Amino acid sequence: MGKDMRYFIGNWKMFGIPSSIKIINRINQYYLKDKKNNNKYKIVIAPPHTLLESFSNKFKNKSIIISAQNCYEKDFYGAYTGSISPFMIRKVGIKYIIIGHSENRANGETDKILKEKISLAVKNNINIIFCIGENKKHKAKKLTIKVLKKQISKAIINKNFLKKILIAYEPVWSIGSGKTPSTEELTKNVKLLKQFIKKRYKTRKDVKFLYGGSVDSKSIKNFKSIQKLDGFLIGGASKSSKKFIDIIKNFYK
Ligand code: PEP
Repeated sequence: MGKDMRYFIGNWKMFGIPSSIKIINRINQYYLKDKKNNNKYKIVIAPPHTLLESFSNKFKNKSIIISAQNCYEKDFYGAYTGSISPFMIRKVGIKYIIIGHSENRANGETDKILKEKISLAVKNNINIIFCIGENKKHKAKKLTIKVLKKQISKAIINKNFLKKILIAYEPVWSIGSGKTPSTEELTKNVKLLKQFIKKRYKTRKDVKFLYGGSVDSKSIKNFKSIQKLDGFLIGGASKSSKKFIDIIKNFYK
């Protein structure tokens, strides 16, 4: 992962059928034409599991990276009906997984489960987009940094894992709500957490830090001045090629 490389990552959630590949094709066409900036960023799209194999085959060795949205906390094969292991994901050519999305945490994913998922993804040589975020109550009680530090420490147990991890800071109250943190607040949180990680894991390298939560062509303008931010995790707006491309366009404008 290059030092100044930025990431625009789309999380499709429960969206997409085979013909939805056209959305990624259009994004890819834009990327290829964007000669002025395309050496500065990577695009990752996370469709549902049903599309991973066909989409990763279509985009093999191409500019757009296909990511999984989650994986099971046990590896290889087993009697876990409906579950998909990191091994199975890797075997269809996938090298990125989103882990710890707040929608999955809300469905029962604990720090312990996330710790397992991270370890297994690393074991399978898969990069991780690890989501952390405080909820509305935490924020009101000024517990944001405390909660985020705990989410990081409990799930990332090995310093070496950091090489494979991009941290996506997604305040739960911001996801899908149209609300975003102020530029100052976000700048401060990213700085504090990058410092915390360096200290805790005794490393001099900055971990890659993304922001997610109601990123669109308008809100992106408030974030582009934040040098320490290495990219964005985009939900709603990633289901439309135009909206996704407009975010990139406005970021580099
Ligand atoms: C998300 O769910 O990861 C997300 C950032 O969603 P949205 O962009 O729609 O707020």
